[in-house]
Amino acid sequence: MRLILLGPPGAGKGTQAQRLVQSHGIVQLSTGDMLRAAVKAETPVGLKAKDIMARGELVPDAVVVAIVSDRIDQPDAANGFILDGFPRTVPQAEALEAMLADKGLALDAVVELKVDEAALLARVENRVREMTAKGEAVRPDDNPEALKTRLSAYRSQTAPLTAYYDGKGMLRTVDGMASIDRVTASIEEVLETAKAAGGRSASAAAAR
Ligand code: AMP
Repeated sequence: MRLILLGPPGAGKGTQAQRLVQSHGIVQLSTGDMLRAAVKAETPVGLKAKDIMARGELVPDAVVVAIVSDRIDQPDAANGFILDGFPRTVPQAEALEAMLADKGLALDAVVELKVDEAALLARVENRVREMTAKGEAVRPDDNPEALKTRLSAYRSQTAPLTAYYDGKGMLRTVDGMASIDRVTASIEEVLETAKAAGGRSASAAAAR
């Protein structure tokens, strides 16, 4: 199973991805997590990304495309993966398509978590409170100013991806405002349908 989770910051992509990892035995490929690890390790990519991320802007496409391509080649991704936070621009989506075709792979589904923007700031504030309570480090971009920039980057650069994947007949939209369990159940339903459709087209192709 190879899928993309789309949705603005605070939509719950990370939470849902972790659940799908458990239920499907696949890996979560979060470009945000990979970039944060690179920043922490002070790699050349990390040094380039650090300030861009803290401001809430997007890291250049070529940088993220290269790290995703390398990550997909790792043995633990062979069984499938969930892309969380990637692609974030139409050029990234095009690069992903070319990259997967090159590797002989294809996506099974693109799932959009649709949320009410007004709720996002509250969700991010809640995440900050929870992390602080657990003694975990708070992300440098989890503050109102950077969140505003992240939301505007989402609107202008990432939201067009819904039309992009809808045009390809791949987009499935789930109500991300429901409870965490309800959202998980809706995603699982969508994946079942995508799997059945994939199986049908595979057997149709075999019959041809
Ligand atoms: P996230 O954890 O997905 O919210 O990502 C945190 C930050 O990492 C973003 O605000 C961007 O600065 C950067 N980032 C993560 N994924 C991407 C991507 N696919 N393209 C560009 N920048 C990204």
